[in-house]
Amino acid sequence: MSLAPWQQRVYAQACEAIDAGRLAHGILFCGPVQLGKRAVAERLAQRLLCTARTSDGEPCGGCRGCQLFVAGTHPDYRIISLVLNKEGTRLRTEIVIEQIRELSEKLTLTPQYGGAQVVILDPADAINHAACNALLKTLEEPVPGRYLWLVTANPARLPATIRSRCQKLEFRLPARDEALAWLCEQGHAKTTASEALDAARGHPGLAHAWLQDGSLKLRREVANDLGKLSKGELAVVETAQRWVADEFGPLRLRFAADLALAEASGLTDPVRTRTLAAWFDAVNRTRDLLRTTIRADLAVADLLLAWRGDGVQTAGRSRG
Ligand SMILES: [Zn+2]
Repeated sequence: MSLAPWQQRVYAQACEAIDAGRLAHGILFCGPVQLGKRAVAERLAQRLLCTARTSDGEPCGGCRGCQLFVAGTHPDYRIISLVLNKEGTRLRTEIVIEQIRELSEKLTLTPQYGGAQVVILDPADAINHAACNALLKTLEEPVPGRYLWLVTANPARLPATIRSRCQKLEFRLPARDEALAWLCEQGHAKTTASEALDAARGHPGLAHAWLQDGSLKLRREVANDLGKLSKGELAVVETAQRWVADEFGPLRLRFAADLALAEASGLTDPVRTRTLAAWFDAVNRTRDLLRTTIRADLAVADLLLAWRGDGVQTAGRSRG
C-alpha cells in the first residue's frame, strides 16, 4: 500500500530522525481523523522491524520480520486499542490500566528478533486516568530501541505531562490540488471528488470516505430538502421524520450545519449571517440532543420550523 503524499512527508521526516538517532522513545502522531496517522505509524514500525531493508531504506516485504509483521504476529510489535467489554457485546470507550501494564511489560522485554520493540497506542486520548499514570511512568523510563507511539486526533485531551514527554509528528490537511489529485487516484471522478472535498472542507480522507459510503449523496439530499423547505415545497414534520428514520440522522444534521455555514460565509448581509449562525448553533445543539432519549423527530421538526420561519430562504441552496 502506498502512502498518500501528506503521509509520505511525515513518514520521511520520521525516517530521517530514526536514521540520525534523533527519534524519541515516545512519539505523538497527531492531526485530524482519517489522514492516515495509524498507517504511517505502522509503516514506520515495519521499517524498524525489517531485517533486510531495500537500498532506499524501505521494508523489504520478504524477510521473516516483514512476514510476521504483515501476518500481524510479530512478537516485538503490539497495537493497544479499545477492546470488547467483559460481556463481549460492545467496545469499551476507554483504554484501561491493565492494557497499559501489558504495554509496559512488553517494552521491558528483550526484542525476540534482536531489533526494536514497537507498541502503538490508538486512540491514545481514550486512556483513562489510572492508565494515564501508568503510561507516564513508562514514558519516563525509556529503553533504547523500544518505541511507544501514541496516535490521536485529540492531543489536547491528553495530560500535558504525557504530551511533554513525546516528540510530536503532526499531520496536516494537504493543499487542495494535492488532495484532489489523490482522490482521483483513488478512482473518483474529478467533479464529484471536488464536490466531496469542498463538503469535507479540504479533508481528503473524509471526502474519500463520504464518496465511498454514499454520504455525499446524503449531503445533496439534505441541501435539496433545505431548499424545498424554505420554499414551502416540503412539509416540516414529514421531513423531520424522514431525517431521523435511519441511523444517519446525526450525519444529516452535520451536513445541514455545514450547509448553513457555507452559505453564511458567502453573505455580506449581517442580519442574515447572524440568522444562519444562530441556526448553525441550533443544529449542533439538536445533534447533541439526538444522543439523549428525546423524541428525535420533534427536536428536528423544531429545527426545520426555525429554518423555514427565520426567513433564511436561500440558505439551503446547494453549493454543488
Ligand atoms: Zn523485511
